[in-house]
Amino acid sequence: MSAMTTAATDRAAVRAELGRGTFDLLVIGGGIVGIAAAWTAAQAGLRVALVDAGDFAGATSSASTKLVHGGLRYLQTGNVRLVAENHRERRSLAADVAPHLVSPRRFIVPVYADGPHGAAKLGAGVFLYSALSAFGDGLGRVISRAHALEQVPALRTEGLKSAAVYTDHQMNDSRVAIMTVRAAVEAGAVVLNHAAVRGLRISAGRVVGADLRDALDGAEFGVAARLVLNATGPWVDRLRAMEDPAAAPSIRLSKGAHVVLRRHRPWKSAATIPIDKYRVSFAIPWEDHLLLGTTDEAYEGEPGDVRATDADIAQILDEAGTALDGLRREDVAYAFAGLRVLPGGPGDVATAKRETVITEGPGGMLSIAGGKWTTYRHIGRVVLDRLGVGAEVLKVVPLPGLAAPAAVAQRLTAAPMAPAVAAHLATHYGALALDLADLVRDDPALGEPIHPDGPDIWAQVVYARDREWAATTDDVLRRRTTLTLRGLDTPEIRSRVAEML
Ligand SMILES: Cc1cc2nc3c(=O)[nH]c(=O)nc-3n(C[C@H](O)[C@H](O)[C@H](O)COP(=O)(O)OP(=O)(O)OC[C@H]3O[C@@H](n4cnc5c(N)ncnc54)[C@H](O)[C@@H]3O)c2cc1C
Repeated sequence: MSAMTTAATDRAAVRAELGRGTFDLLVIGGGIVGIAAAWTAAQAGLRVALVDAGDFAGATSSASTKLVHGGLRYLQTGNVRLVAENHRERRSLAADVAPHLVSPRRFIVPVYADGPHGAAKLGAGVFLYSALSAFGDGLGRVISRAHALEQVPALRTEGLKSAAVYTDHQMNDSRVAIMTVRAAVEAGAVVLNHAAVRGLRISAGRVVGADLRDALDGAEFGVAARLVLNATGPWVDRLRAMEDPAAAPSIRLSKGAHVVLRRHRPWKSAATIPIDKYRVSFAIPWEDHLLLGTTDEAYEGEPGDVRATDADIAQILDEAGTALDGLRREDVAYAFAGLRVLPGGPGDVATAKRETVITEGPGGMLSIAGGKWTTYRHIGRVVLDRLGVGAEVLKVVPLPGLAAPAAVAQRLTAAPMAPAVAAHLATHYGALALDLADLVRDDPALGEPIHPDGPDIWAQVVYARDREWAATTDDVLRRRTTLTLRGLDTPEIRSRVAEML
């Protein structure tokens, strides 16, 4: 049986399972919010279905700044409680849930003579920030100009006085999301990507399921559920309107773009660059590159059409350039954009509070607006409450592949595998990287790099197809591997991946 028929047969089987009986919970939207909610509910023993119109993490959840953070800048808007909550969840994700996929990252905030904040204020800010995390990542403090330049060699020296230091965590967002889908499936959830909800099933005024269409082969099918969770992020009001055509808009959208830049020398820390009183621009070492961004601009268009424009790229380079030397347009490897979901209402986009809002519609559908990576567990608990299931029994469960990446990398290097490839696989798959090594043992050609300039290997394509629900070239190159974001997804590679799928 060819790989093509295997994937198609699998999808038909999943659709048949989705059509069988009544689920306790149907989650619409496979971004991190929906995925995490499905995982939590499945862990509790509920029968859970999760569907996404595109790929899992295909929208906002692969377009973030990749930080698991308390949110230093929320202190500026006085949101101390939110920061403390975020810190608690950040530390749980980094220490218990995904220590193999999430790593600590030190940030410095340069203080310039002409900058918007002075050293005393920033020093107090990072101190409070670290205190709200019970100093679990060390003490937020001010460092000298020389020390700052050692951490971030590209810092503009003119006018540089000192810098404030703090610690957060970072990850590859789409890989963490895919690993969470896997955890949900291991806990019993039935999942299907590339399957869009086209309408809700309503009986006696209650939402009792949804009608879907498979985007790959056009098949139509339905899912019945006791509770429907609308976790469609930027599309949340579209689904609310399916429930109640008179529903007033509940959110506003704000576009945030990022640039992935080739890096020519190592950085020890990331830089948080204050742009004005509220906004900052990040320059973060990530995937051997620098991740720069983000912008914050009201967005009125079709959510699926959001793109980083030339103007966005220019703005990002300009803003980062207020503190960094040597940023060049020709070093841009990739640019992307996503949409923040902000509670509706008046006020400037950049100062709007970023808290999760969960509402219940007249038909009983729950809708979530504005979840974050750090609300990973919170939404699952709300859903369980609503279904009358206590969440107390649930333990913190790690994502699949929990292991010390250094140990996994050592085993892979002995496999033998090039050290850079081994380190890459260990930090993106944890112990599941050993499954990739097995594929390479059976077929050594799968151990070849997909592109000579990047650490991804062909075995990852096979694994993405067979074990990670990848159905399209972008699923593989943009979200299961790092080819696209490194600017290495050449037409030859794209067509070879398409053949393998
Ligand atoms: C620029 C930017 C930077 C950010 N940086 C960070 C950060 O560093 N750290 C952090 O914690 N958070 C960050 N966030 C926030 C975080 O990324 C989001 O809060 C999170 O990804 C939202 O996930 P979600 O599941 O709600 O939405 P999404 O990821 O957008 O998922 C919604 C899903 O619903 C699906 N869908 C829509 N309509 C339908 C339908 N009819 N049927 C089926 N499926 C449907 C879509 O295909 C989509 O996949 C950032 C956000 C932005 C925009």
